[in-house]
Amino acid sequence: MPVRVETYDRIEDAARALSASRSARFLGGGTLVMRAVNEADQSFDTIIRVRDASLRDIRAEGDRVTIGAGATMSDVIANRELAFLAPVARAVGGPAVRNMATVGGNLFAASPYGDFTAALLALGATVNLAGAVSRGVAIEDFLRDRDRGANALVQSVTVQRPHDASAFRFLKVSRVKPKGVSVMSIAAYLPLSGGRVSGARVAYGAMGPTPVHAVAVERALDGQPLDAAAIERAAAVATEGLDPPTDALASSWYRRQVAGVHLKRLLTAERR
Ligand SMILES: Cc1cc2nc3c(=O)[nH]c(=O)nc-3n(C[C@H](O)[C@H](O)[C@H](O)COP(=O)(O)OP(=O)(O)OC[C@H]3O[C@@H](n4cnc5c(N)ncnc54)[C@H](O)[C@@H]3O)c2cc1C
Repeated sequence: MPVRVETYDRIEDAARALSASRSARFLGGGTLVMRAVNEADQSFDTIIRVRDASLRDIRAEGDRVTIGAGATMSDVIANRELAFLAPVARAVGGPAVRNMATVGGNLFAASPYGDFTAALLALGATVNLAGAVSRGVAIEDFLRDRDRGANALVQSVTVQRPHDASAFRFLKVSRVKPKGVSVMSIAAYLPLSGGRVSGARVAYGAMGPTPVHAVAVERALDGQPLDAAAIERAAAVATEGLDPPTDALASSWYRRQVAGVHLKRLLTAERR
């Protein structure tokens, strides 16, 4: 089936064209879309792209940073405002993939991909949708509706810079080092107040159809000092309420078995 390519100068026009057609796909860096084209994926017949370079902008305002959906993992690594996310971006693929893979595309990448999105989930990012009236959506809501919602164009994501850089931690677990795909990724934002965790946010990649919160882990850590006893309790409920997938990298059973071990490693790592 031939695929038509539509190129727009303005983000709003691309957003309108995308939302008007269920069989259209937006082209980010193309690491997944072009693979689908090569594999003769029949689920879309139109590719929509936009020339507006502002889709790649990264803007810091106070303690909030807005990252254009077209910013690549390499753009994130190169930007000093995003030093806290650089280790996450570095964990995505190899150099060639990072030069193309965008932040926007990562939001849509099916499991086991989505490492960067897991970090955005732990950091409580807002996803900004393009359109006549652009609007911000909590990343949880965006991910919940992602695979059944309208064909919306993501313009950017806004994320709060952690006040204390050591409060944010990220770990990618893969079998092939350094650029294998995730068995799981774990991102944790654990700000301390008076020596206790206050507002724990912990997210997994590759442990569900989209990145997901580890709700039981968050509950186990919140209000506790980050000590051996609290970490042990958190590790014991590492997969509570979750239904990890079985794929070519690992079975659901394996993911359940090892999640607590990796979570413990992340939580006991020296705070930087
Ligand atoms: C060899 C290889 C290794 C990889 N390793 C990793 C890895 O380690 N970790 C990981 O997380 N991912 C990995 N990926 C997957 C992928 O490269 C990344 O998830 C990447 O961030 C996807 O971004 P993209 O711009 O290339 O997406 P594209 O291929 O352009 O698009 C992917 C999907 O997102 C949609 N989309 C893209 N941008 C927007 C937007 N602004 N608004 C609305 N929809 C949009 C597209 O329509 C499409 O459905 C890998 C891929 C390959 C090929």
